Amino acid sequence: MKTAEIASANIISRVGSNNLGLSKEAIEKLNQEYLPLHFEERIRRVYQDFEPQDILVTSSFAATSAYFLHIIAGIRPEQVIHFVNTGYHFSETLNYRDYLTEKYSLTVEDLTPDKHLHAYSQSEHLWESDPDLCCSVNKIKPLEEVKSRYKVWISSLMGWQSDHRASLNIFEERRGIIKFNPMLDVTKEERDAYIAKHDLPFHPLVAEGYESIGCSHCTVKGEGRAGRWQGKEKTECGLHL
Ligand code: SF4
Repeated sequence: MKTAEIASANIISRVGSNNLGLSKEAIEKLNQEYLPLHFEERIRRVYQDFEPQDILVTSSFAATSAYFLHIIAGIRPEQVIHFVNTGYHFSETLNYRDYLTEKYSLTVEDLTPDKHLHAYSQSEHLWESDPDLCCSVNKIKPLEEVKSRYKVWISSLMGWQSDHRASLNIFEERRGIIKFNPMLDVTKEERDAYIAKHDLPFHPLVAEGYESIGCSHCTVKGEGRAGRWQGKEKTECGLHL
């Protein structure tokens, strides 16, 4: 039996399981066990506690995505990275995706929306009239389709980025998958120190004043996430809610 199988079996046998393989008690136990660890130890350990092929990694190839991708590539170089390609990204984002893919020898797979739904979002300018529906069609649905193949989804969310993110646990069950948020307690200063130490490249639009970068229709220059969905109530695309 592989280490991952043994570890996973131990967790399940200690606290019982559900259709994801883990009960609420098991998730709580994982939270207790992972909390004292450094975030890189958490990521190393999750590949031992779960089958690597059950682990989903996504990247938006946004402002500082090189940070998370550099860490993942160092710990598990063969990890497939899924990119939700909404069709509304800046050309600089697509170039940044290609640049990082080559620089860190990543395996990146694009997830694209249904072409009819995407065309509808385009003809109706849904990002203006109903941005939640637009995100649902172009981001959430393509990801939902791939999520069913996985049990654990690693995020790079950090608590200082928003109140919602600050309220999360390291492990949470969300819409049929276990969200693993190993970097919640990484401070902005720690992230910036890592980026400087490894001389990691920022998204090219960061130099022009964009600190958070999503689709071109919904992103303007601004500090933190202030430039996202400006003038609207919306603060998250819904992928992480
Ligand atoms: S971020 Fe804007 S353009 Fe992109 S999917 Fe969401 S609403 Fe649509």
